[in-house]
Amino acid sequence: MPTQRTLCIIKPDAVEKKVQGSIIQRVLEEGFRIVAMQQVQLSRAQAEGFYAVHRDRPFFDELCTFMTRGPVVIAALERDDAVAHWRKVIGATDPAKADEGTIRKLYGANVGENATHGSDSPENGLIETAYFFPGHELL
Ligand code: GDP
Repeated sequence: MPTQRTLCIIKPDAVEKKVQGSIIQRVLEEGFRIVAMQQVQLSRAQAEGFYAVHRDRPFFDELCTFMTRGPVVIAALERDDAVAHWRKVIGATDPAKADEGTIRKLYGANVGENATHGSDSPENGLIETAYFFPGHELL
């Protein structure tokens, strides 16, 4: 399996619930190396840029409002098969449809407020980690 990077975002709902520590612990237990990590409150422009692919979707405004309402923890993760593995650990977009034990099942509230982000392809893993960590921060 190739070593890949994926972007993890612990979303505002999970930070509000104070479960960011549990999620980071899970990241480590799943064998990821944390290449970079920061807590920030996203600007509207950062959120809109990050989710630009969804700009024509009906939930775009709601999504950007949610993602900017409080701090997020953003981490660049690395391991073998990182993208698929992290997607499996976080579970389906809608927490109600996510498998037992997944992060979204454990901590998500609904299809919008679903606790965590994970990149959806190896290419996007690189693009998204570079979006928030343009270079020198990566270990
Ligand atoms: P993901 O790859 O599983 O995160 O799902 P998507 O790429 O389809 O959507 C990106 C993010 O947009 C999701 O994680 C949700 O936070 C949000 N989202 C997706 N669908 C909906 C929706 O129907 N309503 C709202 N409010 N947010 C949504």
